[in-house]
Amino acid sequence: MKNDIPKNGRDARVIVAGAGLVGTLLALLLKRRGYDVVLCERRSDPRAAGYVGGRSINLALSDRGLRALDLAGVREDVEQVAIPMPGRRMHAVDGTGPFMPYGLNGEAIRSVSRGGLNIKLLDLLDRASVPVHFEHRCEDTDLGARRVRFAMPGGAVELQGDVVVGADGTFSAVRYAMQRTDRFEYSQTYLPHGYKELAIPAGPGGAFLLDKNALHIWPRSSFMLIALPNVEGSFTCTLFFALEGERDSFAALDTSDKARRFFAAVFPDALALIPDFDAQWAHNPVSSLCTVRCAPWHRGRTMLIGDAAHAIVPFFGQGMNCGFEDCAVLMQVLDETGDDWDRALPLYSARRKENGDAIATLALENFVEMREKVADPAFVYRKKVEAALARTFPDEVTPSYTMVTFRPDVSYSAALAKSRAQDRVLDRLVADARVRPLLEQTPASADLRAIFRGALDVHPDAEPRR
Ligand SMILES: Cc1cc2nc3c(=O)[nH]c(=O)nc-3n(C[C@H](O)[C@H](O)[C@H](O)COP(=O)(O)OP(=O)(O)OC[C@H]3O[C@@H](n4cnc5c(N)ncnc54)[C@H](O)[C@@H]3O)c2cc1C
Repeated sequence: MKNDIPKNGRDARVIVAGAGLVGTLLALLLKRRGYDVVLCERRSDPRAAGYVGGRSINLALSDRGLRALDLAGVREDVEQVAIPMPGRRMHAVDGTGPFMPYGLNGEAIRSVSRGGLNIKLLDLLDRASVPVHFEHRCEDTDLGARRVRFAMPGGAVELQGDVVVGADGTFSAVRYAMQRTDRFEYSQTYLPHGYKELAIPAGPGGAFLLDKNALHIWPRSSFMLIALPNVEGSFTCTLFFALEGERDSFAALDTSDKARRFFAAVFPDALALIPDFDAQWAHNPVSSLCTVRCAPWHRGRTMLIGDAAHAIVPFFGQGMNCGFEDCAVLMQVLDETGDDWDRALPLYSARRKENGDAIATLALENFVEMREKVADPAFVYRKKVEAALARTFPDEVTPSYTMVTFRPDVSYSAALAKSRAQDRVLDRLVADARVRPLLEQTPASADLRAIFRGALDVHPDAEPRR
């Protein structure tokens, strides 16, 4: 057993529990910094056993995530197999619907395969000679001694590190050890909605049967279906739907036959593209959606990262991106403190916690926007006013989606505060009858500029904040 006085600086040994997306990226970044890193994962090696997801098959990667991948030198590799999605394609019941760009200047989010990305990061860890122990399930952590007990086939092993990282997801075992300490704050809240995935297969010759470069949304007020493209031509659809209830719920669609009839009435164009709908409906599980908030994100030399610290609902497509950004911020605080973990971890915890809370709030709010508001003409008009305002005063106004998704230089908490302030400006402008007739002119007429200026001056708190 090692001495109990932990080594500091780059001599430290770091035990990471959880080799998901965030644990693998973090292990790679720490190894490149010179650390002795050991990674332990509950599951078996996905390269031998096949990737067992349990989560979405593909995800939207955006600029915060790309920035962290850049630090690890893998951004280009990942971008090569990612599909750009510069906007949302809406689907009304009759199959028609507009394309709504995500950014003002053609910016795109990217659809990436969860398994593919995880395997790429594992391959890079092999190349960097980082030991990854599969089928090692973290059971408990002695926070004081930084000793972690892992169950493994045929027994158990205890590993001691100078630093311990819980990257073990929403139901983190490392966090559970922290929850049993004094003044550790923790909450876990479930949405009444769950989700089920369904696949639209590729067409002949690998053809994409929907517009490839879009995130597809079928908004239906209290529920919605979305679809993201996969490189081989298929789409992964996710139905977000109430778990319980006599109608419009998973509980109500308790047979494939009922589900197919429901889809025929509500999502007919999607159903037409899923030939084996009945089998998929019967086979694919329904999963729940949870928000976890906790504080602090460290105890001594044990820390949490990714979903272990901040599980959020997926409606802003930011869970992984936020976890990747956690990794980048940890590298930043290590830079600032000369790799003094005792000073770095309180800084990391303090800087990230308010941002984890902010993106959790934004993600919950975006569910209402995606499933309900995007189909509402009043909301579409509000978005038009917001875009015109942002184009006219780009230094002062940035749409909330742009800040969260394409502006990693704006923190999540600053994005939340600024979007609240901009909302007050927009409330005023959409209620102003003079705006609508002036909106079609680009660039904005002098009259429209004056109205915008007036509204911004009434709300100086909409000023940019980083
Ligand atoms: C439907 C859905 C869609 C999503 N879409 C997006 C999106 O578009 N964009 C986005 O950015 N995010 C998205 N997310 C969120 C994203 O999936 C997560 O934020 C991300 O996977 C978090 O990575 P992680 O490594 O922290 O946790 P996880 O991916 O959960 O990885 C944790 C790892 O730890 C392992 N583990 C667990 N317990 C133990 C233990 N006791 N011992 C050892 N190992 C353990 C697990 O097996 C796993 O490998 C989505 C989530 C869902 C549910």
